[in-house]
Amino acid sequence: MSEITICPQCKGEHVFFDGNSLFTCPDCWFQFTQKDHAAAIEAAIVRDANGHAIADGANLIVTQDIKLGGSKVIKRGSKAKHIRVLDEPFDGHELECTIDGIGRIYIFAKYVK
Ligand SMILES: [Zn+2]
Repeated sequence: MSEITICPQCKGEHVFFDGNSLFTCPDCWFQFTQKDHAAAIEAAIVRDANGHAIADGANLIVTQDIKLGGSKVIKRGSKAKHIRVLDEPFDGHELECTIDGIGRIYIFAKYVK
C-alpha cells in the first residue's frame, strides 16, 4: 500500500520527511511532526458501530432502523453494500452505500457494522 503524506495546511502532496521526526511541506513551508501525522491519520479513520475501521468496497449490516424522507425506512439488518468512505463527510455522514430497494444513500458509520 503506497501512502502519500498530505500537508494538513494546504493539502499539498509534496511533503518530505527529514528521516527523523519532522515533515515539511515545500508548498507552504508548514512543518509537522511524525506524531501529529500519526494522530491525523488516526482521526481520519472511519469506524463502524463496533469500532472497526471501514474500508472502501466493504459490505456491512445496518444496525438500526433509519427513517428516510416520506415513508421509507431502512430496516435494521439491511445490507449496506459497496460502501465508499467519503473524503469529506456529507452533512455529517461519513459513508455512501447501496441499500436494496432504496438505492444509493449517505449513511452514518455508527449505524453499520
Ligand atoms: Zn502545505
